[in-house]
Amino acid sequence: MNEEKILIKKIRHYLPKTEIKRISTALKFAKMAHDDQKRLSGEDYITHPFFVAKTLAQLKLDSNSIIAALLHDVIEDTKISSKEIEKRFGPEVTEIVLSLTKLKKITLPENNLNGEDPKTLLQINALRRVFFAMAKDLRVVIIKIIDRLHNIKSIEVFSKKKQKRIARETLYIYAPLASRLGMGKFKMELEDKSFKILNRQRYKTIKSKYKKLLIGARKNISQIEDLIIKKLKKEKIFAQTSSRVKNIYSIHKKLIKTRNNYQKIQDLLGIRIIAENKEACYKILGIIHTLYQPIPNRFSDYIALPKLNGYQSIHTIVRVNNNLPLEFQIRTTEMDYQANFGVASHFVYTDDLKPKEDKRKNSTYTPQKELKWIHELAQWQEKIKDSSRFIKELKIDFFNDRIFVFTPKGDVKDLPKGSTPVDFAYSVHTEIGNKACGAKIDGALKPLSYQLKDGETVEILIRKNQKGPNPDWLEFVKSSGAKEKIRSKINTLKKIDQYL
Ligand code: MN
Repeated sequence: MNEEKILIKKIRHYLPKTEIKRISTALKFAKMAHDDQKRLSGEDYITHPFFVAKTLAQLKLDSNSIIAALLHDVIEDTKISSKEIEKRFGPEVTEIVLSLTKLKKITLPENNLNGEDPKTLLQINALRRVFFAMAKDLRVVIIKIIDRLHNIKSIEVFSKKKQKRIARETLYIYAPLASRLGMGKFKMELEDKSFKILNRQRYKTIKSKYKKLLIGARKNISQIEDLIIKKLKKEKIFAQTSSRVKNIYSIHKKLIKTRNNYQKIQDLLGIRIIAENKEACYKILGIIHTLYQPIPNRFSDYIALPKLNGYQSIHTIVRVNNNLPLEFQIRTTEMDYQANFGVASHFVYTDDLKPKEDKRKNSTYTPQKELKWIHELAQWQEKIKDSSRFIKELKIDFFNDRIFVFTPKGDVKDLPKGSTPVDFAYSVHTEIGNKACGAKIDGALKPLSYQLKDGETVEILIRKNQKGPNPDWLEFVKSSGAKEKIRSKINTLKKIDQYL
């Protein structure tokens, strides 16, 4: 089947005729533009933009994303100008293509300047631009992630040096981005593909060991699956079960924490249950906890309290036969789709959900309010001028898990894991942070350095005549917002002192 047929087959179900026509025009145009070009692998160049466009079509993204994907390398690699693209495909496509072209110029140096880790200036610039683009139009980031996925799939054609550079960039920039956007499926693939290049030996060792463990536990797991299916049938709950496989890179990270002890990784083996609706998820949870004893503190209800990237699922780790820890993930079909494709699933084109014209003309096009953090991120990254600090704090804020706590009024605040009442205070209001003198957690007095936990209610006690924060707080605050505010207040107080 030729490319046009493949693409049309994928978009026919959900796009109107006029859009299908625009897309096939764009495909022809891209083919013509890249006509004489080959990829290093020897394939026709068009196979690359075509892969990206096809993947977007699988995700049912809107036509402008697909057109932009087809044209994403045109400005950089051919003689065609952005004016020409604008004339043919309009300003929205052009905007996306231009952003993608800009992002392309940013690469890591082949030699890791720092030697030990990838905190180089260029990389930081790359991150900044990625985020900038992100706040502007998330579709740019989605396309970029898929573009990278295709590139890393055909990475063998490059020199070893370049492979490593691309792999580092993927592991430290693109995979975390995919994760933050909730695109779990892409994140895992990016991680494993780049980890394999960066540390082939370790990758192989973990993979074969994991395989052995899976084979060993298979009988156990399938018996458990059978038992659960039986119980569900009895209760007339319709659900599908499958054994959940962990990606190699995430096992690697857990192994670092457990000092290479596979036994200590409690969610190494898992079963995923996809239910019809939310109610069924909770019923299934009840059935599992009746059958098996849950391991304390290893239960999370991300359905009631979704992760910041939109992820929803119930997780519980129980002990099954032979004391084996087994993780269950229970969610609906929609939640499962969201877990795999994240933000991309919000751009799904349907007639009634089609964004309004005037909204599209606006330069900020993000699907919904829950992605507010993207804008916040773009805002404070502007403020931090020191690049090395930027990346350090970025890693803390942006890539680690978050916790959810409540204000006395019941509003939810999300903070980086390990946050303290001081982080909370500054997230409510700068002055509350500056005047904080104590905290009540679920009604009980706690020190300001106390580490907050999910679901706690935090009340900040303030001292009205307190001039500013205690510099010691910098020792324990976690969020970069709070750190910034403390530093800047201390600096201002110092300056005032000089004049007194
Ligand atoms: Mn590309």
